[in-house]
Amino acid sequence: MARAKSPGVYDVIVVGGGVTGAGVARDCAMRGLKTLLLERGRPGAATTLSSSHLIHGGLRYLLYDRLTTHMTCWDSGHIVRIARPLLAQLPIVWPVYRGHAHGIETVETLLEAYDAFQPMKEGRPHLRLSAAETLRLFPGLSPEGLLGAVSFDEWWVDPLALVRDNLASARRHGAEIRADCAVTNLARAEDIVTGVLCGEEWIESRLVINAAGPWIDKVAGMAGLSIPLRLQKGTHLVYRKKLTPAGLLLEAADKVRYVFMIPSAQGTLVGPTDIAAPHDPDQVSTAPSEIKYLLDSLKRYFPRFPESYDETIVGARPILGQGGSEKLLSREFEVFDHERRDGLAGLLTIGGGKMSDFRLMAETVTDAACEKLGVAAGCRTQLETLSGEALGHVPAYPKPPKWLRRLLRRHPRLREFHAIAHLGATFAAHMARRPFSPPLADAERFRDHYCEP
Ligand SMILES: Cc1cc2nc3c(=O)[nH]c(=O)nc-3n(C[C@H](O)[C@H](O)[C@H](O)COP(=O)(O)OP(=O)(O)OC[C@H]3O[C@@H](n4cnc5c(N)ncnc54)[C@H](O)[C@@H]3O)c2cc1C
Repeated sequence: MARAKSPGVYDVIVVGGGVTGAGVARDCAMRGLKTLLLERGRPGAATTLSSSHLIHGGLRYLLYDRLTTHMTCWDSGHIVRIARPLLAQLPIVWPVYRGHAHGIETVETLLEAYDAFQPMKEGRPHLRLSAAETLRLFPGLSPEGLLGAVSFDEWWVDPLALVRDNLASARRHGAEIRADCAVTNLARAEDIVTGVLCGEEWIESRLVINAAGPWIDKVAGMAGLSIPLRLQKGTHLVYRKKLTPAGLLLEAADKVRYVFMIPSAQGTLVGPTDIAAPHDPDQVSTAPSEIKYLLDSLKRYFPRFPESYDETIVGARPILGQGGSEKLLSREFEVFDHERRDGLAGLLTIGGGKMSDFRLMAETVTDAACEKLGVAAGCRTQLETLSGEALGHVPAYPKPPKWLRRLLRRHPRLREFHAIAHLGATFAAHMARRPFSPPLADAERFRDHYCEP
C-alpha cells in the first residue's frame, strides 16, 4: 500500500545520488513517475567514485557464485550499450609466477569459463602469453619465476560521468535532482512513510526509495528499521600518470587477494584493498597499513614501483549479509519491501550489487515501485542511450533460470558447490584439449586482439 496520488506530491523520492540512485531516478522518470532525487553531497562522489572504475563481469565470483557473474555480465552488456562514450575497453593481463596460489592452467581454466559470458558485454576471448611475450608487453615486470600470463578484458568507465549522464537523462524525462540535500528523517503517518525531511523542508511523496549505498542502514534506521549490511572497505592509490600500457591483475603480498593496476586517460589506479569496515560508512578511512600492503604487492613485480602516489580514494562496498566467510556472502542485490518485511508501507530499499549491474538494480526496484503505485509502464532504460538515442536492436542474452537463482540464494554452500562443479568440468576439458591448443599469443597478436575496431 502506498499513498494515493494528490497534486504536487511526488510519486517517488530517491534517497542517494550514487550510481544506484541515479539509475533509479532515470528508470522512474522514464516510466512517467514524478520523481525527485536527493543527494546529500556531490552526485557520484561517494562509493561510486571510490570504485575500481570497472564495468566488469565479476571474474572472481566464478570461484564461488557463478550466477552473479552471469547476471553481472548480462547487465554490463546493457550498460556498455547505453553508456558507450564513457567507456574504454581495457585489456587486463594476469601474470602467473612459480609459487602463486593459482597455477597457470587453473588461471586459464577460469578465463575459459569467463569466455562463455564475455559476448554478453562485448568482451573478447582470453589469450595466453608466454613469459617472454609478457615481458615484451611489460618491460619493467620482474622476470624471476614468471611462467606466462593470461589476458581478458573489462570496461573502464568514468564513474562521475556515468552518474552525471544518468541524472541528465532522468532530468530530460522530467525528474528533479537536488544535490547537497541530506535526508535527515522520514515522515510517517502511522504505518506509512509519506515523505522525507530535507533541511527544514518536509517533502511529500507516495513512495521513498532508499538507494543510499553503504548508508541504506542509516536511512532505514530513520524509520526504526535495519538492513543486514556488511561493509568491506577498499582503498586505491591514485597516480596522475599512466604507469602501465594495459591493466594488470597481480597476486597481492598476502598471496590471498589480488590487486589491479588500472590505466586510463586520467592516470593509474592501484588497488583495491578489501577489509572489514566500521559499520558507519562515515568513519571509513585509509589506514597506513593499506598503503603499505598495496606498495608491497606492486614491488613484488616492479621492484622500482614509485612510492609517491598523488592521492588515495577509499569507500565501503555495500555487501548484504552478516558474519561468516566472504564466499558465503552473495554479491547479488536485493530489494527490501518494508511493507512486506516490516509492516511499514511507502518505503523500498535497494541494497548490495555493484556499479556493473546498477541498471538492473534500478529496473528491479522500479518494477517494485510501479507495482505499489499501480503503474503498468515497463522498463526502457536498456533501449535508449544515456544521451537519448534509441538503440534499435538489443541482443537478448538468456538470464539464468529464476528457480536456480532463488535456490542458490537460499543455500550459500550449494552456490559454492555449483560454481566449483562448473569449474571442475571446465578444468577437465581444458586439460584434455591442452595438447592440441593453438600457439601462445605474442605481443603483436595481443595488441591486434584488443584494438577497438
Ligand atoms: C574499493 C571498491 C572498488 C569497487 N570497484 C568496483 C568496480 O570496479 N566495479 C563495480 O561494478 N563495482 C565496484 N565497487 C562497488 C561499487 O562501487 C558500488 O556497488 C556502487 O558504487 C554503489 O553505488 P551506490 O549508488 O549504491 O552508493 P554510493 O555511490 O555510495 O551512493 C550513495 C549516495 O547516497 C548518499 N547519501 C547517503 N545518505 C544520504 C542521505 N541521508 N540523504 C541524501 N543522500 C544520502 C551518499 O552521499 C552517496 O552519494 C567497488 C566498491 C569499492 C568500495
